[in-house]
Amino acid sequence: MKIFSLFLILMVAFAACRQSTSTPEKGVSFELNQYRKQNIDSIQYAIMLDIPAGKSSRITGEQTITFELKSLDSALVLDFNTDSSHILAVKSGAGKIEYQFVNEHIVIQPKHLNKGKNSIQISFVAGDLSLNRSEDYLYTLFVPDRASTCFPLFDQPNLKAKYSLTLKTPAGWEAVSNGALRAKTAESGKSIYHFEETKPISSYLFAFAAGKLFKETKMVAGREMTMYYRETDTAKVNRNRDEVFALHAKSLAWLEKYTGIPYPFGKFDFALIPSFQYGGMEHPGSVFYNESALFLDENPSVNRLMARASVIAHESAHMWFGDLVTMDWFNDVWLKEVFANFMAAKIVQPSFPEINHELRFLLAHYPGAYEVDRTQGTNPILQQLGNLKNAGTLYGAIIYLKAPIVMRKLEKIIGADLMRESLREYLKTFSFRNARWDDLITIIDRKTPEDIAAWSNVWVKTAGMPAYTIGEENYKIVLKQVKDSVSARVWAQPLNSKERDTQDGRLVFPNGDGTGYGYFEMDSLSKNYFFTHYNEPDSIFDEPVFKGAMLVNIWEGFMRDNDASAENLLQKLMITLPKESNPLLIDYMLGALQTTWWTFLNESGRASRQVQLEQLLWRLLNETRDKGIKTSYFRAFKNVALSPDGLQKMRSLWNGKLVVKDLVLSEDDKISLACELALKQPEVADEVLNEQIANTKNPDRKAKMQFVIPALNPAEKVRDAFFESLKKESNREKEAWVIEALGYLHHPLRAQSAVKYLRPSLDLLQEIQLTGDIFFPTRWLHGTFSGHSSTEAAAVVNAFLKAHPDYPGFLKNKILQETDMLQRAVRR
Ligand SMILES: [Zn+2]
Repeated sequence: MKIFSLFLILMVAFAACRQSTSTPEKGVSFELNQYRKQNIDSIQYAIMLDIPAGKSSRITGEQTITFELKSLDSALVLDFNTDSSHILAVKSGAGKIEYQFVNEHIVIQPKHLNKGKNSIQISFVAGDLSLNRSEDYLYTLFVPDRASTCFPLFDQPNLKAKYSLTLKTPAGWEAVSNGALRAKTAESGKSIYHFEETKPISSYLFAFAAGKLFKETKMVAGREMTMYYRETDTAKVNRNRDEVFALHAKSLAWLEKYTGIPYPFGKFDFALIPSFQYGGMEHPGSVFYNESALFLDENPSVNRLMARASVIAHESAHMWFGDLVTMDWFNDVWLKEVFANFMAAKIVQPSFPEINHELRFLLAHYPGAYEVDRTQGTNPILQQLGNLKNAGTLYGAIIYLKAPIVMRKLEKIIGADLMRESLREYLKTFSFRNARWDDLITIIDRKTPEDIAAWSNVWVKTAGMPAYTIGEENYKIVLKQVKDSVSARVWAQPLNSKERDTQDGRLVFPNGDGTGYGYFEMDSLSKNYFFTHYNEPDSIFDEPVFKGAMLVNIWEGFMRDNDASAENLLQKLMITLPKESNPLLIDYMLGALQTTWWTFLNESGRASRQVQLEQLLWRLLNETRDKGIKTSYFRAFKNVALSPDGLQKMRSLWNGKLVVKDLVLSEDDKISLACELALKQPEVADEVLNEQIANTKNPDRKAKMQFVIPALNPAEKVRDAFFESLKKESNREKEAWVIEALGYLHHPLRAQSAVKYLRPSLDLLQEIQLTGDIFFPTRWLHGTFSGHSSTEAAAVVNAFLKAHPDYPGFLKNKILQETDMLQRAVRR
C-alpha cells in the first residue's frame, strides 16, 4: 500500500476541482472515456505474461505502454480492475514513479509524463477474473471492459491500440492470440510464444488462449487457418472438421466480396472451447467458439446445422462490422451485432436451399424479440450508458433479435443496393477507427429522399412494440395501430393481411406474410379456422410462412389474454403437430407446447393429459423419418415424460435396451437422460447418475456433471447446500454449469421447494453483474425463474422490487423481462 505525501493529497484535491479525471469513479465513465479519447493517441501495449501450470498459482506480467499525450492538464488514468497488491512497480524511462491506486485505476500525475511520446512500464500480477482458468487451459474473455481485470490499460473501445503479446506457458501447452506466432522458444522448461504486433484493435477484442489444446491447420481456398480444440472424441472431430473450415472460408470470401475490403487482420485462427460463455466471440485473428456449437452430434437437426453456419458467419462478419469499424461507445454495441446477424443471414441462406429462409428468419427473430418487447422491462435498441462497467446489461434479445428485424425494414425502405453502397462507404470511411449509428444514418440520409433519421427515432431510439387490431376503411380491411405506450408514436411499416370468405363471413389473417413487427390481434373464429384447416392443400393454409406467422400471432394472443385457456391451446397444438413436417414449424410448436405444459398448466392439468401427450410424442418420434425432427421429438418427449411407461422408455433408451431406428444418442443426450431420470425418479437417482459418470468419457463433460449432480439430489438439504455454495463467487466460475444446475434446482417439479432460493438469488444479482460475464445476469434470472409459475414466486419478485425502489434501472429491467412469464402465469 502506498502512502501519499500531504502535498500529493492536496494536489489531487485541487486538481479534482478542475478535472474530474483526477479522482476517477469505478469503471470507465462516459466523461473519462471522452477525455481520454481527446487526449491520448498512438497506443501500443507490449505485454508478457508468465503462466504457471494449474489454475491457482499467480500469473505475473510485465508490460510497456507507449502512447502520445496531447496535453498535461490532468493526471493519467489507467484502468486496472483488481486491488493494489496486484501492482508490483510502475516505471517510466528513468526509474520507478509514484502513482495512486484509486477506484481500480492507476493514476499518474502529469509531472511524471511528457507532452508527446510516453512510455510506462508496469510489473503486475494479472487478475484472474476474466482468464477462465482450468487446470490445463485458460482463455480470455475481455468483452466489454474486462481486459482491465487482467492487466492495466485504457479499457475503452475508441482507444484502439497495437498489442504485442509474449506468453510463457508450461511446456506442452499450445497458445493462440490475435497476432500471428512470430517465434516459439524455450526457457527453463517453459515454452515462450512470441506473437506479432496486432493491427489497431479495441481492448475488448484482445484475446489469447493457452493450454492443452489440439490443433489442426488447413488451407482452404487459399487461406490458411488453424483450429484449436479440446474435444477428445475423434469421431466427432472427424465428422465436423472439414465443414467447420469450409464454413469459415466461405463466410470470409463472401464478406470480402460484399464489403469490397479484403480480410483486414492478416492471419485467421479459431479456438473451440468447452462451455464457452457465448456461441462465439469475434476476436480478430483468433475467434473463440463454444465447442458444442461447432462440433455437432450425429444427425443434427436443420436448425442446428443452420445455427452452426450462422454463428460462424456471424463471427466472420464481425471482422469487418465491429473489429475493423468499432462502436465509439458501448451503447452502440447493437450495431455490430445487427450487422453480424444481417450478414450471417445473407451468407448462410444460399447454402441451405432446402430451407425456407423467410420462415426461419421469422421464427428465429420475432418470437424471441416479442418475449422481451412485450414486458415492462423492455428497452430501446439504442440505450443510454453512463459507465462502461454496466455495458454488459445492454445485451439481450432486443439487440440480437429485434435489431435485425429493424435492419431488414431499413434495407426494404432504401433497397439492397443502396444498403450495400452505404455500408461500403461506412466501412471505408471508418476503417481501424470508431463510428456511431448516427454516422451511418448520415451516410444513408445523404443518398435517399426518405427521412431515415425520423424513422430511426421510433424504431431504434424508443422501446416497445406496436399492437394492431383489424378495422375497416372504405370497405377495405386495414390494420389499425392501437394503445401505444408513447403518445403520437407511429410505427411506420408496410403490413399485409390475408383474407378468406367463409360461410361465417370474412375472416382476416393479419400480418399473413410475417414481416410486420408487433402484436396482431386475431378473433377466435379466424384462429379456429386456421387450426381446422391447417396444412390443407390451399393457396395459404399450407404455406409455411403464413402458418408460422399465424402461430406466432396466436401465441402472442395467448400471452396477452388472461382468459385464454392453456388446455385449449395445448389441445390445438397436439392436433396440429402431426399435420406438420416442416422442422422449423415443428420446433416452434414443440417449444410453445412445452412452455404451455410447464408454465401455464397446473399439476392436475398436466396429470390429466400426461399419458396422451407422451403417447403422441412417442408415436411421432417413431413415425418421422427425418433424423433432425426425430431428435426434436426425442428431446420434447424426454422433457415431458413422467408416467411409469414414459420413465421406463427413458430408462431403456438411456441404458441401450431400447433402440429407436435412426435415433442416435450422443454422450450429451445420455447425460441429459440420466439427469432427467434422476429428477423424476428420485429412487434411482444415485444409481443412474453414478453409472453415467462412470460411462462419461469426455473429461469436461464429466466435470460438468459432477458439478450439476447436487442440484438433482432428492434430498432438499443437499440442494439447499448446493444453492448456498453458489453464493461464493468461485463456485460460479463455470457459468454454463451453473445455468444448467439452476434448471434442475428450479425445475417445475421441484419449484415449491425452490421458492426459498428466489429472494437470495435476486439479492445476488448485483454481485453477479459485477463478477460474471455479460449474459450471466439475464441467464441467472432465466435459469432461476423459468421453472416457477406460482403466486408465491411472483410475490417474492414483487416484494424485492418494492424493497428496492432505487435499484439500478438496467438490472431492474432484466428482472422485469425474466419474470414476465411468471407474472402472466400467475394472472390466470
Ligand atoms: Zn456478435
